[in-house]
Amino acid sequence: MPIVELRDQDLEQQCAVCGATRSVPLAELSAGVEIAPEMIDPSVIALPTCARCSAREFLVRTPGQEANGKGTGEGLPSDRHRQLVRDLHATLIRVQRHLRSGATEIHNPSP
Ligand SMILES: [Zn+2]
Repeated sequence: MPIVELRDQDLEQQCAVCGATRSVPLAELSAGVEIAPEMIDPSVIALPTCARCSAREFLVRTPGQEANGKGTGEGLPSDRHRQLVRDLHATLIRVQRHLRSGATEIHNPSP
């Protein structure tokens, strides 16, 4: 589950099941998961399935502030992870990669 590192174009993730580390392009991610028809949980980010063990993981944005240039590299590892998820979620919202209530399509910027 843990995000090891969040970069501009991708993130490094370690699989909680098999321990494999991989980089996931941000372009493959979107904020919001459809939990039922016409029902979207906007705080959840679904990660692609692990190529090695097929585990699928979900990141849940917890309430709190975005980093604002601090907060990384200090505190508990779990705090740092929550911070990374918040930053990732904010990034996806900023680039319009999120599901909206009442819509089932992903709003991608046109190529
Ligand atoms: Zn795995």
